Amino acid sequence: MLKNIRSDIQFLKRHENALIYVKREDCIPFSFGGNKVRIGAELMSEAERAGCDHIISYGSEASNLNRVMAHMAENRGMGCTVIIKRDGKKEKSAHFNELILKNSRAHLVYCTRDSVRETVEAELSALTASGHKPYYVYGNSRGTGNEAVFLRAYGKAFLEIREYEKEKEMSFDHIFTASGTGMTQAGLIAGKISTGSGVEITGISVARQEEALKASILSALKSAGFGQAREDMVSVSDEYLCGGYGSYDSDIRSVVWELMTDHGIPSDPCYSAKGFAGMLRELERKGIEGNVLFIHTGGTPGFFDCISGGKGRHGF
Ligand SMILES: *Cc1c(COP(=O)(O)O)cnc(C)c1O
Repeated sequence: MLKNIRSDIQFLKRHENALIYVKREDCIPFSFGGNKVRIGAELMSEAERAGCDHIISYGSEASNLNRVMAHMAENRGMGCTVIIKRDGKKEKSAHFNELILKNSRAHLVYCTRDSVRETVEAELSALTASGHKPYYVYGNSRGTGNEAVFLRAYGKAFLEIREYEKEKEMSFDHIFTASGTGMTQAGLIAGKISTGSGVEITGISVARQEEALKASILSALKSAGFGQAREDMVSVSDEYLCGGYGSYDSDIRSVVWELMTDHGIPSDPCYSAKGFAGMLRELERKGIEGNVLFIHTGGTPGFFDCISGGKGRHGF
């Protein structure tokens, strides 16, 4: 499997007074790449270190984490159970991540948003009773306890960014990333704290209100041993939620097509294109200048969800 995960940083374009660079996490060479490959690799090492033989993952129907964990577990000869939350909304067209999962050897279990905890507990005890040693990616059944492992992934990515700055004799003034649970952003902040970097880091929230997202980033940092983290180190914008997780508009759809046709870069409207669209608006509104780095967190299967709806670049 993957040793030493790395990704390139490339110059994209000027936007007003900012020079936009992109860190191509989407090109990490395993299961379509993305931030979940970096995070998944940390989770697998932890699971192996703990002598576990079965991974339990959890996410939405469009979850990139579930896809990556299924493939990593299979690749390392471990069992895998994937818990999928169905949101109960009207059935949209199937997500490619779910189709890919259905063709893996992972055991798929569906739950509702109100039954996550009991579903995780039931799977953990069933596996334990049959002699397995399961590893639940989020820690305990309430989804806490494993923050340090998640944060390690983007703490390491931050060090790569520092190496790039050194090699190119430049520095980034601002880093932007799409922020869902905030673990990627928290890892970047952990890297910033460890290295004493002065870069600004802003998360474009794709799912949660600002206060809730900030609180989980701060508490993850504290649980991971960064007791010195303070609220003013966490910058989040929830102004580009566009109706919530998974929702998007023609503006985000245009970004999906602009990135693909002008730059040859796939992105998905749920995370990476929503984050990128939000970043462009922030650059304009705040007049941000200088070197700006966008962390392209992946989500390539979602690119195909977006374009297979049959609507083209200008339609919606
Ligand atoms: C999960 C995910 C994110 C969000 O990462 P968090 O650590 O949950 O904030 C962003 N982009 C993509 C493509 C993802 O799969």
